[in-house]
Amino acid sequence: MSTETGSAPKFVNGDVSFWMRSTETPVRRPALDGHTTADVAIIGAGLTGLWTAYYLKKARPNLDIAIIEREYAGFGASGRNGGWMSAEPAGQFKRYAKSGGLQGARDLQREMFGAVRQSVEVARAEGFDEDLAHDGLIHVATNAAQLSRLSHHVAEMKEQGWGQNDVFQLSPHELAQRVHVEGAQGGYWTPHCARVHPAKYTRGLAKVVEDLGVKIYESTTALSVEQHLVKTDRGNVSANFIVEALEGYTSSLKGKARKLLPMNSSMVITEQLTDAQLKTVGWHGGELVGDAAHSFTYMHRTQDGRIAIGGRGVPYNFRSSFDRNGKTAESAVILLKQRLGELFPSLANVNLEQSWSGVLGVPRDWCASVNFDKSSNILSAGGYVGHGLSGTNLAGRTLRDLILGETTTLTTLPWIGRQARNWEVEPIRWIGATALYGVYRYADNREYANAQPRTHWTARMANVVSGR
Ligand SMILES: Cc1cc2nc3c(=O)[nH]c(=O)nc-3n(C[C@H](O)[C@H](O)[C@H](O)COP(=O)(O)OP(=O)(O)OC[C@H]3O[C@@H](n4cnc5c(N)ncnc54)[C@H](O)[C@@H]3O)c2cc1C
Repeated sequence: MSTETGSAPKFVNGDVSFWMRSTETPVRRPALDGHTTADVAIIGAGLTGLWTAYYLKKARPNLDIAIIEREYAGFGASGRNGGWMSAEPAGQFKRYAKSGGLQGARDLQREMFGAVRQSVEVARAEGFDEDLAHDGLIHVATNAAQLSRLSHHVAEMKEQGWGQNDVFQLSPHELAQRVHVEGAQGGYWTPHCARVHPAKYTRGLAKVVEDLGVKIYESTTALSVEQHLVKTDRGNVSANFIVEALEGYTSSLKGKARKLLPMNSSMVITEQLTDAQLKTVGWHGGELVGDAAHSFTYMHRTQDGRIAIGGRGVPYNFRSSFDRNGKTAESAVILLKQRLGELFPSLANVNLEQSWSGVLGVPRDWCASVNFDKSSNILSAGGYVGHGLSGTNLAGRTLRDLILGETTTLTTLPWIGRQARNWEVEPIRWIGATALYGVYRYADNREYANAQPRTHWTARMANVVSGR
């Protein structure tokens, strides 16, 4: 961090992400050149694809594995995210319990704790742990309704397999020892979360995987998938097993347009803060910090003393279209800057250095899944709804076991084989997603205004309608 403020940095909108821009510019690996064969073909070089390749290669070094990537490793959400490697599975516990029983859902939670540990341990052992901190996660309530939601959530967590050392409620005083959030009324801390630099982490894993002998074909777009065959714009790959690891980009594959909604999430990052500015914020550790609003805000204090904040913005682009290289709507940048100033008033006028966006995959039931169609040997994983950093690790190990035909504690988890129904057709999909976030913003405002310790009815209604 710096001790004095220099001249304002030039603001960059897009350019994939601050994380990618703060690493060496990725040099693209060669594209596929004509037809090839592999034991396992993986589509997408994000964390799902890379972890799957990593664990397969570690278990069976002789397996021939090819990864097909449209841009370059880490170009998608894995290189753009908030860097929260957290332990909560996507979606509602009760949905996993409905299909896998109470114990099954608790097993999934236990494996998510393990996924955070594994993701940290492998990164340290393989040397891609730069900027990684394992200091946990704080959720902060800044009004009475949020506090009541957080307290209720902590009570639920205890029923879902979180032990007494897994989550701790914090008084405003205890919270202030870790971070000074304006208007904080309390919160909770859990040790089960690590902070990662998304681009260094994902690019680092890609390098490890490549060194293990996995072929990564970049600048190669998969167009369709059929039994034992991936058709791309650069030739075809014949493989015994095919893994679709596209998450938020799944809708770009033929026949998958309504499976996962590509939800947009936007981030901004400040310039490097001075010691004096950081002192006012009182955030000296590597904890990740989030609020408890319906239009959720997630924050990350970087190793070099900046604050990245994400969440609000344009939630969904008509017809599932994607951002261009992370370019972000001006309205989203304004909302995020405003939120930064609300939570940390001393930073209200700080310069922003970059904004970017990306897509994450949201299934209709908001629960993640790992799927294996044994009749075609086509597998997939995704729908982590913003919990993908550790979810991808668990999915990678699970896909390994499924491909190797092994029955393990992972192959019976209740996220296996979940089939959520498709999203609605357009324009209903766009109207629904846009309206949902409008309602959440309205409910947040009402909860600040009325100061009541209960969730505003409009948000409760929106949760029921959206299935969230
Ligand atoms: C802004 C943002 C913030 C987030 N914050 C967090 C967070 O803090 N914590 C958390 O746990 N999760 C977070 N997430 C979600 C998390 O990043 C994802 O769930 C996770 O990275 C998904 O990894 P993946 O490998 O499945 O998908 P991706 O990383 O998206 O990888 C998919 C890859 O497929 C490639 N591709 C696309 N189409 C094709 C094609 N047709 N052919 C070949 N390749 C193709 C893409 O270029 C991309 O590299 C966030 C997401 C975003 C966008």
